[in-house]
Amino acid sequence: MYTLDELQRIVKSCYRCPLSKSRTNVVFGEGNPRAKLMFVGEGPGFNEDRMGRPFVGRAGQLLDRMIEAIDLKRGEVYITNIVKCRPPNNRNPLESESDICIEFLRWQVKIIDPTIIVCLGAVAARNIIDENFKITKERGIWINRGKYHIIATYHPAALLRDESKKKEAWEDFKKIREKYNEV
Ligand code: URA
Repeated sequence: MYTLDELQRIVKSCYRCPLSKSRTNVVFGEGNPRAKLMFVGEGPGFNEDRMGRPFVGRAGQLLDRMIEAIDLKRGEVYITNIVKCRPPNNRNPLESESDICIEFLRWQVKIIDPTIIVCLGAVAARNIIDENFKITKERGIWINRGKYHIIATYHPAALLRDESKKKEAWEDFKKIREKYNEV
């Protein structure tokens, strides 16, 4: 077992896949190391790559507002991604990249030991829940895997592109808050 700091050092010096060559910074993840709730996005974008922090661009600001809307603070939860380095031009991570990087997410889950895991968008849901996950049909449904309660909702970037999805996302966030109170 690693500590979170040890794992972060390992991930920061990872060169296991080609994304390491084009990155400015590794985006390991941040937040409460004992968080009950973990959000998992897809991968760093332009701003995240520059800053070395997850969800700091426009989508991140929306995520912050949604977290606050369910009476939580960003610092109370943990936020990370499927891949820790930015895919060029924000393309989806390749299977060859996510298959390598997901080992780091597994360690993060083991160490932080959240009760609730929220997949932000289809890429996270396909890597965590089911490879054929359909975000429009299967979002907002709890899945129990061992001791983890897992749910997927729209990626905040999708909400910025299509405001009509916000209502469903808000329903999902209310469910997440209810579960947070229960566990
Ligand atoms: N989109 C993601 O999926 N993750 C980030 O960290 C930022 C934008």
